[in-house]
Amino acid sequence: MNAEILVLSGDGVGPEVSSEAVRVLQAVAAKYSHTFNFSHHLLGGCAIDQTGSALPKPTLNAASSADAVLLGAVGGPKWDNPQATTRPEDGLLAIRKALSLYANIRPVRVVPALAYCSPLRPELLDGVDFVVVRELTGGLYFGQPKERRNGGKTAVDTLEYHDYEVERIIRLAFEIARTRRNSVASIDKANVLESSRLWRELATSLSKEFPDVTLSHVLVDTAAMRLVMSPKQFDVLVTENTFGDILTDEAAVLVGSMGLLPSASLGEQRNRHGFQRGLYEPIHGSAPDIAGKGIANPVGTVLSAAMLLRYSLGLEQEARAIERAVETSLQEGCRTADIRQEGLPTLSTTQMADEIIKRL
Ligand code: NAD
Repeated sequence: MNAEILVLSGDGVGPEVSSEAVRVLQAVAAKYSHTFNFSHHLLGGCAIDQTGSALPKPTLNAASSADAVLLGAVGGPKWDNPQATTRPEDGLLAIRKALSLYANIRPVRVVPALAYCSPLRPELLDGVDFVVVRELTGGLYFGQPKERRNGGKTAVDTLEYHDYEVERIIRLAFEIARTRRNSVASIDKANVLESSRLWRELATSLSKEFPDVTLSHVLVDTAAMRLVMSPKQFDVLVTENTFGDILTDEAAVLVGSMGLLPSASLGEQRNRHGFQRGLYEPIHGSAPDIAGKGIANPVGTVLSAAMLLRYSLGLEQEARAIERAVETSLQEGCRTADIRQEGLPTLSTTQMADEIIKRL
């Protein structure tokens, strides 16, 4: 296969982890006789510095014609001024919108060898393997009005959902559940929120099209509790934008480091291979505290590259090869600073990627 992959390294540790993921993809291309062409553009703080825009036009054009986009991370203290007219995160929101990416998929799988990194007891973690499907373009983050009133003393945000927005994300969750253990937990706050009552109605109605998948409704506060009390009960969780934002960070704690988890953002656009033109990024931010030191964990980005192969290029076998190589590396004692373990050497970002490539 011949694929065009746009790399948006971004800020902080973004360039460090994305360059390692590119090396892993190059190794996959060599091993399986594919040609992956990589182009590089600006997004986030580095784009603001060079062009004044967090999502410059050339980046947008490149994203619209690429088969898939691999992103490092954006942001950092340099651009943190709340009064600034443009912020790095604006670039992220704008590119998600431009590519109509409405679903954020975050698999959470605990690697048994890393149970010591988690604050939870190992027996709670054994067998944890679920996917959070978060709605990305609607809900509280985007609803209008969103404004200050009363001379700035009152603030309003709006949680709005249309039926088609809810249906498409819940449908995707059911489809993903069919490739896993056939169970969907729809997370809402239907005891209080009207938008959640619509969400619950539509989930119930759609479930009739998926009789092989079990649907349960869980209130978001209960879900937050169950994620740490008994996380292995979950298979696929589907939820509203803000709830998803919070629950996915909570879920990240289970695996022990922000540096380990990947994500895919998927939407309605198709690439020239007929697959989703997705955007793939680790769940972590630009980690300014460790940026430039060469110690960031590249695993989250490498696993995001595996998701890229799966969802945007249909290369399931190659995606699994990366996932297996990562898992074996971790099982066999490869450790970066964030998952440091006594008695084992601490690897740099590049050394960790070397170990993964060696095991491909
Ligand atoms: P962060 O995820 O950058 O860092 C949180 C903690 O996790 C830090 O201690 C960091 O060192 C550690 N960490 C993160 N990635 C790691 C990795 N790969 N290896 C080892 N340790 C890692 O979150 P933050 O500090 O709250 O945010 C920093 C900046 O990133 C902010 O400007 C924020 O807005 C931005 N941000 C961007 C994204 C994104 O690009 N999608 C997401 C979240 C935060």
